[in-house]
Amino acid sequence: MFFCLRNTLELDVARPVSDMAAFFGYQPAPSAALTLTLAREHGCISACLQGAEQSFTASEPCSEAAASGDITRCVKLVVLKVFAELTGLQPKLPWGILTGVRPTKLAHKLLDGGVEAAALPEYLSENYLLPMSQGRLLTDIALKQNHILSDSTRLTDTGIYIGVPYCPSRCSYCSFPAGIVPQDEESQQNFVNMIEQDLQNVVQLIGMHSLRVKSLYIGGGTPTSLSDKVFARLLQAVERRLLQSNCEGLRHLREFTVEAGRPDCFSAAKLAAMEAAGVNRISVNPQSFHDKTLQLIGRRHSVKDFYNAYELVRKSRIPVVNVDLIIGLPQETEQEIAYSLEQAVKLAPENLTVHTLTLKRSAPLFQKQEQAVLTTQAAEKMVQRAAEMAAAIGLEPYYLYRQHYMLGHLANIGYAKPGTESIYNIQMMEERHPVIGVGPASASKVPLPDGHHLHKLNMPKNVAVYGARLQELAERRRDLFNIEGTDL
Ligand code: SF4
Repeated sequence: MFFCLRNTLELDVARPVSDMAAFFGYQPAPSAALTLTLAREHGCISACLQGAEQSFTASEPCSEAAASGDITRCVKLVVLKVFAELTGLQPKLPWGILTGVRPTKLAHKLLDGGVEAAALPEYLSENYLLPMSQGRLLTDIALKQNHILSDSTRLTDTGIYIGVPYCPSRCSYCSFPAGIVPQDEESQQNFVNMIEQDLQNVVQLIGMHSLRVKSLYIGGGTPTSLSDKVFARLLQAVERRLLQSNCEGLRHLREFTVEAGRPDCFSAAKLAAMEAAGVNRISVNPQSFHDKTLQLIGRRHSVKDFYNAYELVRKSRIPVVNVDLIIGLPQETEQEIAYSLEQAVKLAPENLTVHTLTLKRSAPLFQKQEQAVLTTQAAEKMVQRAAEMAAAIGLEPYYLYRQHYMLGHLANIGYAKPGTESIYNIQMMEERHPVIGVGPASASKVPLPDGHHLHKLNMPKNVAVYGARLQELAERRRDLFNIEGTDL
């Protein structure tokens, strides 16, 4: 069902309007029998939904001095009201009117603005229709993150992300632009050459702005999809260019993570290389503890392969292990998901990340229309079950993010034993610390002094393009840090 938007506000609100209307099964179109008019008058935002035979109106107080974020909030509320009038529906809103990827940023902003932590869940419920349980979750996470996101070091404490855009095969739910790892060693070596070259630029950047690197993360894709030899060379390049450099800013490093997500390309040799390089956090991801699901989603490993990899890691000196699971994989029942959760917590990992399936258009699974069998209610129940099971082994939620097209409009939640929270995950998600991206498809972000906006640069996804433009891109990345009015 369609409606046509007539927006007289001096603010582009097409996306939030479309997000709210979608809860009622409506989407915007250039012309339609139904017109939604938005206006600002007499200290209110008003919405009028006009059809051929009937019309509905709603308004929400909004002061003349309201910032764009608050105007958008009011727009969302009035749009919900008029569509509820039109349809007679009251859709369940697990996250209220919050539709962004990083709801914890709002919690931080409100706490910074003077809302008391104890009053925050209620504030979020009243102003954003957020259920109290989610408000409490956001508050707890924001408070937990505060020791890492301390204001005094906000502009200097930095993360480095090195992206390896290769995987051994494509998972059917994946929308990430990872390619299949080239089998010839020369291509893999060329890729590492590019990374090594760029790391020299990074060291200069750290020195130039007196940055303090707290976290280093090698992710992707699947970094361990490189051959044993090339993977070891990648880690040696990181050691040589970063860890063993004389750069003062790297003496602050506390966390070095490798995303070893796919057990099908894990090996004892790679683990030895990680130990030698000082990796202290690793991710090994079963996603499901059912072989039939793993086959269905195109992961070329079995549950046994995961156990073998996990056992190897447990015998190593790497102290923090993360395990990822996905709720809502195709054809998995509630019982099967519960079984996977039980197996994961039995291993007592320090970190557990529970994702909810996201069906993006670019994912092969979406194109095949092979939809998840879980209902929204069942997915919610499983997310709740995951939280209880994580709590039972002493893990607490410490970061959270949402994505569009997420099953049941739910969230991905990272749990950790207190003291083992991933610094990088918090830096990357809250966008209050600079993150320097290295490698194709990586992103560099530099927050502005207000703490709520940032400068950002995305590296090209294509490996050859990244390599060809390396120096130009390094200069643009350096320019992100030249923020007027700061002494970064
Ligand atoms: S391992 Fe991750 S990045 Fe690679 S194809 Fe699977 S989901 Fe995508």
